[in-house]
Parts: sequence; structure tokens; C-alpha cells
Amino acid sequence: MPLICSMISIIGGGIAGLSTALALQKQNIPCKVYERSPAYKPVGAGIWLAANAMQVFNSFGIQDDIIKAGNELSSFGLMTKEINRISIPDLQIVKDSYGIATVAIHRARLQEVLLKQLDEGVVQLGYKFEALTKTKAGYSVQFTNGKTAESKFVIGADGIHSKLRMQLFPNAQKRYSGQTCWRGISTPSIPEKYARAGYELWGNQIRFGFSPISNLEVYWFAVAKRPENDIEPTEKYKANLKQLFKDFDPFVLDLIENTAASAISRNNIEDLKPINVWHKEGVLLLGDAAHATTPNMGQGGGQAIEDAYYLGQLIKHHNDITKAFADFRSVRHKKVNAIVNQSYTLGKIAHIKRGKRLRNLAFKLAPSKAVTNNMMALYKLAPLDELL
Ligand SMILES: Cc1cc2nc3c(=O)[nH]c(=O)nc-3n(C[C@H](O)[C@H](O)[C@H](O)COP(=O)(O)OP(=O)(O)OC[C@H]3O[C@@H](n4cnc5c(N)ncnc54)[C@H](O)[C@@H]3O)c2cc1C
Repeated sequence: MPLICSMISIIGGGIAGLSTALALQKQNIPCKVYERSPAYKPVGAGIWLAANAMQVFNSFGIQDDIIKAGNELSSFGLMTKEINRISIPDLQIVKDSYGIATVAIHRARLQEVLLKQLDEGVVQLGYKFEALTKTKAGYSVQFTNGKTAESKFVIGADGIHSKLRMQLFPNAQKRYSGQTCWRGISTPSIPEKYARAGYELWGNQIRFGFSPISNLEVYWFAVAKRPENDIEPTEKYKANLKQLFKDFDPFVLDLIENTAASAISRNNIEDLKPINVWHKEGVLLLGDAAHATTPNMGQGGGQAIEDAYYLGQLIKHHNDITKAFADFRSVRHKKVNAIVNQSYTLGKIAHIKRGKRLRNLAFKLAPSKAVTNNMMALYKLAPLDELL
């Protein structure tokens, strides 16, 4: 027996799924989000929400809630392992133009803000997508809990390992970057000079990033090259990281030391080789399911949030969901694919073996006008008619 009927079933309740549900709700389109997890657990990591993501949240009327739940940064850039400047772009220009720069926030708090906006019953927890079948009226979605949902349209927002994508486009390829990433939330004493900073420190084929996400907590990540099938026992993470980053600025070691060993997570960094189709009849992929990127530009979540925004814009423009799905990729793929490819290359550059001094010098001496222009283009939400 069908569980619930709605206009659109969204598979996956991550950043993309929740933001899309919010965009649809703003257009009064009934939807349901089906998330496999039985509960939203506090994820032990933060996220940087750049000005493009924040402009979308502004259009949803939740920018202030996000700022309140996170930490608006005033300095953001690349540093040496001793925390000396390599390249710090001018965030004030971003703020002057877009009204906001980057906000660093705990992922669980971002989820909370989004969930609070959604109508009761929109998000269904404990629904793991299993398979999709076409029906006369649209689609029947089967879940591993034995339940079924009927809807006219389906959106796949189930992340980089998307089962829905595998069913529709089985040839899509994930790429392992050769790098792995540890993440944690630390509670050190935060020097004033770092209170509103988001920095990534480049060392010898390893890097470390951090930014406070509240007065008491600092989100950090550490990246190193590792074989894809490398095995490291969880209880060794903390000791191994202290050893790996021992010649970085003492604040880095302080951050690792002040993180509960059990709260450090590790994931391989991978992306999705750009695919040239995100949509089939009444089914659309978005977020990481369509275009997962490496985190080197801090834009995967930002692009998922932009997806939600432009889908809402397209539905408003066409007043027709079928047409909106059909146009979606042509509106989004140019920017998204450029980010996926640029981010992949940047990750390689960050871990080069030889020529590090020259590389840092090139970043340091890059004309500030070019750096600013690139940044402004990345954060710009182009009007829909420029993209159609
Ligand atoms: C180390 C790291 C750091 C990052 N830092 C940043 C950053 O600073 N800024 C930024 O913008 N981006 C960042 N990103 C990228 C960002 O996290 C992702 O792009 C973003 O989370 C994508 O959102 P999504 O909803 O598409 O996918 P996901 O976040 O993967 O969410 C998918 C959701 O679908 C659910 N799901 C999966 N399978 C099923 C199923 N079968 N049935 C039902 N539900 C299912 C999952 O449980 C999950 O809730 C980072 C990524 C990494 C790995």
C-alpha cells in the first residue's frame, strides 16, 4: 500500500535535500524528503558556507538564523604551516557586494536551522531508498523498510554514492583523489586573532584547515595523501595526527589535543567525474548525487544549495516542473563542472612534492584584481535569464 502521495519525493535529507525541500515549499509545491538515517545525529564537523550559499539562504529568509548559529568570518585564506600569509583575498569586497561573506557553522546546527523551516511531516526518517519504478501517474519509490511512496516526480539528493544515480546512470564514475581527510571539533582557548578566521595551512604534502564555529568550538580538518584502501584504526587517529603535524604552528597541535579522540572522523576525498546527464523523464539528480566535488574550494555544499535555489527559480519561471527539470542541467552544469575540475586540480597542487616555494610565491604574487574577480564570479548568483 502506498505510504504517502506527494508531488515530489526527494531521496536524501542532507544539505541538498533539505534546501531543495525549502525551495519547493516556498513555491507551495508539496514534497516529502526520505532520509535513510533514523535520526539526525550531531555530525562532528563544520562547514564553510560561502557568499553564494548565504545569498540563497538570504532569499529563503534564513540568513540571520544561519549567522546566529555559526560564525561569520572576516579573514579567509591560505597560510604556511607557521600560519603566515600566502594568500588572503579581500572578503570586505564580497561583503560589500553580496551583503555577507563566509559563515563557518557546525553541520548539525545548519541541519537544525533548515529542519526548523520545513513544515511538519515533510521529512521522513528511516527511509532508505531501494528502487524506483515508473507508474501511470509518475513513480513508485520503494524503501528498505518495506514501505512505498507515490509521486509524480522524484529528486535524487542522496549524495556521492547515490543509489538512485546508480539505477539511472550506472556508468557514472567516482574518482579517488589520492587524499584522505580527518575532521574534528576542538574546544581550545581561541586566540583573538583567529576568532573570525578561516585558514588552510599548507605544509609538506599535508595541509590543515581551521575556523571557529562558535565562541568555544573550532572546526578543523587535516588532509594527507594515502592509498585508497589504507586502513588506520580509529583509536590511532589522534596520536597519528599529532605526529604528522608536529612541525606546524603550536595552535594546530592545540586543536588536535583538545579534540575528543572519539570525535575525530576520517573520509577519503573523492568526486564524481562530470556526467552529461542529470535527468531522465520525471527524475532529477542534484547536489553531490549529480556533481560531487572535492572539498578544496569549499563549494560542494554551496553548489548543492545553489541547485535548490535555481530549481525553485526554474519552477517559478516555467510554472511547470517537467520543463524546470529539463532545463536544470543547462542552467547549472557550466559553473558546477568548472568547480569540480578546478577543485580537483587545486587538491593536486596543494600536495605537490617539488616546487612548493615557487607555488606559494605564485599564490602570494597573484594579482589581487584577478583573485578578487575569480572570487566574485564564484559567489555570484547569476539571474536566471542570463543562464537560460
Ligand atoms: C572533508 C569535506 C569537507 C567539506 N567542506 C565543505 C565546505 O567547507 N563547504 C562546502 O560548501 N562544502 C563542503 N564539503 C562538501 C559538502 O559536504 C557536500 O557537497 C554536501 O554535503 C553535499 O550535500 P548532499 O545533500 O548533496 O549530499 P550528502 O551531504 O551526502 O547528503 C546525502 C543524504 O542522503 C542520505 N542518503 C544516502 N543514501 C540514501 C538512501 N539510499 N536513501 C535515503 N537517504 C539516503 C544520506 O544519509 C544523507 O543525509 C565538504 C566535503 C568533505 C568531504
